Amino acid sequence: MEERFFKFSLFLKYPELVHGISRRHYGDMRFGKIPDSEVVNNREHFFHDLGVSAQDVVVARLVHKTRIVAVSNQEKGRGVTDILKAIQETDGLMTFQKDIYLMVTVADCIPILIYDPVIGAVSVIHAGWRGIIGQIVKIAIEKFKNNGSEPSNIVAGVGPGICQKHFVVKTDVLDQFLKIYPKVTLVRNHNGYVDLKKAIAHDFKDQGVSSENIEISQDCPVCQNGKYGSVRKEGKGAPASAAIIGIKTI
Ligand SMILES: [Zn+2]
Repeated sequence: MEERFFKFSLFLKYPELVHGISRRHYGDMRFGKIPDSEVVNNREHFFHDLGVSAQDVVVARLVHKTRIVAVSNQEKGRGVTDILKAIQETDGLMTFQKDIYLMVTVADCIPILIYDPVIGAVSVIHAGWRGIIGQIVKIAIEKFKNNGSEPSNIVAGVGPGICQKHFVVKTDVLDQFLKIYPKVTLVRNHNGYVDLKKAIAHDFKDQGVSSENIEISQDCPVCQNGKYGSVRKEGKGAPASAAIIGIKTI
C-alpha cells in the first residue's frame, strides 16, 4: 500500500490526521482528459485506501492563483464527481472541522499539506510557480494565525513535485524568483533553474514555522516518472495525482 501513495513521516505521529498523495497506480485524478466516470472511479479507489468516504471530500478547482477558502460540513462532497460543483477559482482549502477531507490535484506542481494540532486546522495547497510568487504560503499561514494559530505549532509537508534540475525557466520567470528568492535559483549555460520546494520551505520559515516541522519530499514526477504523471515530461495527457488531508474523529 505504501508505495501506491506518498505520506509525510512527520505526520505519522498524529493518529487523527489522514493524508496522502496518490501515485500513478491510481490513474488520473483530474477531470478533462479521460471520461469523468474513470476519474470518479480512480478517486474512489484512492479514498477507499485512505479510509475516506467520497461524500466527506471537498475539491478545489485550480487556477494558479492564491485564493484559499475555508470550508465546512456544508461543502462536503463538492467537486468529487462534478468539476462544476468544486470550490471555484481556488488553489487552497482549509478547514477547522473534523471528518472533512480537502483535496487538490497536481502534476508537476507542488502539493502542500499543513496541520496545526493545537487549533485543529488543516490546509491543502496547490503551488506552482505563479502561486509561490503570489505568496500563497504566506497567505495560508496568515489564515492560520488569524484563527489563533501559533506558527511554532504548525507542521508542514511539501509534497512530491518538480525538482530544480527539471524546472528550467525563461528569464521572465527567473527574474521574478531572483527578486524574492535569490537563494533558490541557479543559472547554468544560459538556462535558469528554480527550486520551488526550497522557495516554499523558505516562506514557511519566514512565517515562523520551524525547520524541524517542515518535511520536503524529494520525489519528482520527471525523475520518477514511473511513480507520478508529469505534464513537463509527457504533455497534457499526464495523469494528475490527488493530495488529501483531513482530521478524523478518533
Ligand atoms: Zn526531477
